Amino acid sequence: MEDYLKGLNESQFEAVTTLDGPLMVLAGAGSGKTRVLTMRIAHLITNGVDPFHILSLTFTNKAAKEMKERIAKVVGQSNARSLWMGTFHSVFARILRSEAHYLGYPSNFTIYDQQDALNVIRKVLKDMNIDADLYKPKKVQARISNYKNNLITVKAYFNNPELMEADEKANMKHIGQIYQRYVEQCYKNGSMDFDDLLLKTNELLTRFPEVLAKYQDRFRYILVDEYQDTNHSQYLIVKALASKFENICVVGDDAQSIYSFRGANIYNILNFKKDYPEAVTVSLEQNYRSTQNIVNAANVVISKNLQQFKKNVFSENEEGEKIKIYRSLSDADEANFVAGNIWELRNREQKMFSDFAILYRTNSQTRAFEDALRRKNIPYKVYGGLSFYQRKEVKDLIGYLRLLVNENDSEALMRIINYPARGIGETTQNKLIVFADSQNIPVSAVLDNLGMYSPQLKFNNGVLTKLSDFWAMIKAFQVLLKTETAYSVAMEVAKRSGLIKFLKDDQTPEGISRVENVQELMNSMQGFIEEQQQIEDGDPSLPNFLENIALSADTQKKDNDEDDMVSLMTIHLSKGLEFPVVHLVGLEENLFPSFMSSATREDLEEERRLFYVALTRAEKQAFFSYAISRFQWGKITDAEPSRFLSEIDGTYLEYLNPAIEKRFINNSGVTSNIFDEHPSEIRSFKKIEKKSISKSENDKPIAEPKKLKPVATAKIINPSGASSQDIEVGD
Ligand code: ATP
Ligand code: MG
Repeated sequence: MEDYLKGLNESQFEAVTTLDGPLMVLAGAGSGKTRVLTMRIAHLITNGVDPFHILSLTFTNKAAKEMKERIAKVVGQSNARSLWMGTFHSVFARILRSEAHYLGYPSNFTIYDQQDALNVIRKVLKDMNIDADLYKPKKVQARISNYKNNLITVKAYFNNPELMEADEKANMKHIGQIYQRYVEQCYKNGSMDFDDLLLKTNELLTRFPEVLAKYQDRFRYILVDEYQDTNHSQYLIVKALASKFENICVVGDDAQSIYSFRGANIYNILNFKKDYPEAVTVSLEQNYRSTQNIVNAANVVISKNLQQFKKNVFSENEEGEKIKIYRSLSDADEANFVAGNIWELRNREQKMFSDFAILYRTNSQTRAFEDALRRKNIPYKVYGGLSFYQRKEVKDLIGYLRLLVNENDSEALMRIINYPARGIGETTQNKLIVFADSQNIPVSAVLDNLGMYSPQLKFNNGVLTKLSDFWAMIKAFQVLLKTETAYSVAMEVAKRSGLIKFLKDDQTPEGISRVENVQELMNSMQGFIEEQQQIEDGDPSLPNFLENIALSADTQKKDNDEDDMVSLMTIHLSKGLEFPVVHLVGLEENLFPSFMSSATREDLEEERRLFYVALTRAEKQAFFSYAISRFQWGKITDAEPSRFLSEIDGTYLEYLNPAIEKRFINNSGVTSNIFDEHPSEIRSFKKIEKKSISKSENDKPIAEPKKLKPVATAKIINPSGASSQDIEVGD
């Protein structure tokens, strides 16, 4: 028997070696689902399946990367390289690019991340004179997203009186028109948002049978991890692709479905047997990740959910310590406990900082922990929220690059047309936009023909010169792109656009860190190019680089560099990961379960699944904590312990301190205030003595290759913590 099969238990072995036909693995946390998927791919290749014919869909890019690395160990690098493995979005973006002409899109279409899409929505609202207070842009975005993920196109929307009525009842009767304008705008800009990547793939596969046939034939074996969190659009894509060979393997856990707010449909996994009556179903019962205590406590909590497949999950690991609970006075007190505890355990039990994770329900809880960790000089890394690629200075440079690739991208164009300032003021910009809209052409087309349009535009000569100088510069960059690497073009852009000089003029720590961020972007680009050059069908081009960062922006996660740091992240982001010691914090009613989610049983059950996910991340030790008062929404509020605590059998728990009887609010200790919260980006804190910004460092030529890193692991170190000026603040 091959070595890699030896470590599997009987059920895992069955799942790994049943290669043909539909297969579902429905099993609890930590039971080896992801491991099975990985080994199954290795086994397929060992048994002669060309990796070219295998498609594996994961929930994060990081998961894909890790799986590939593991597979490479069994079947060799070159085999692993030709696998198609990645998130739905990244895989289908790639397919859309090569088939874009079918849909009337340019193959260099821009991918809008959530923030870009939101900007377009704001513009649409403004154009339509719709009050953004009544139609909150984020709410509009969520609604449009929901339609797209259910394949309700604009046309389908207007053909469905029920939908229109529902929106009217919700006081959003203009949604249809906003949706329409938004779609038109994106099309005109040659761009797709994240949901489009799935929607358009569906369109491609349904409208063009020859395209469907091509990819059915290519992807003869399809594997999907975290299947419980696929949405309808994703479900249909997989179903269409798999319908010829039906070699489809899905793994998931209904108890870990936590993305219904983004349209994930738990019934996809529950209905698998209906779609494929022949399907082999395997259940895995043994949890290899956690101690018995943790597994048993998690089982007790999840058993309170009515809507679930009953599963038997057990652990044969050591019984382990009880789950420890700390009751604190305030959020600051809680954070101090967690930081102190990490410090102590590390010293007493020789743990690494990277053994620890702090998991919370919402991003806004991060700040107190960052403060406490910094005070103790404990290195940490925050995942999620705004990513590195969404920092203003980084996005500005990316704006230039996007424009070079797709000059119809008016979003990018307007971002940089006067950045750094070159005398093209707001009035001029508005005139350009209004005129382009009136002619129904992109702004780039106006700039291409300034001479022809100038009588109508009525710009004075000074403005005309500035505009044509700007446009000539962009055109020159585009020419450069034909012969030079993406990296050297970006370098030219950074210098010749005046961006670097502008940033370097600001010698404050924030200014210096902005220059460093631009350097880091260049580094990640260089890393990306080198990585792509090593891959057989790699693509080191600028469009591919941009696509990669657009898609990684929203799913920033624990990267796999060697740094010894504590991980801070929301529970949603922690899915699939594992840590020796987990601190699950903020266990209070209205925070977890969230105040928005305790109204209906369905919502509450999703919160409980979230709790189950959090607890089952822990391998050896779990700590729970809650505060009896917390600074929230700008004021101190009383808090009650979360109901989830009382749902756990007392035998698995141990209280670290007596119940706090007397309410006592320590004002001076309160450091977290929702109103001074900065949006979190990927940021980290290294021990202070390790890194300080020196003048000489800043004087280095830009982007002198440091340690080169691939895009997915690009990281910034900002010892002073992020300042809100660094970041573009969304609403
Ligand atoms: P989740 O539901 O959280 O995604 P999972 O079911 O995907 O979990 P894995 O991450 O694949 O579980 O496995 C959990 C841990 O158990 C991993 O560290 C894995 O290496 C280990 N593991 C899985 N199967 C075995 C086995 N047969 N022997 C030893 N260790 C195993
Ligand atoms: Mg997994």
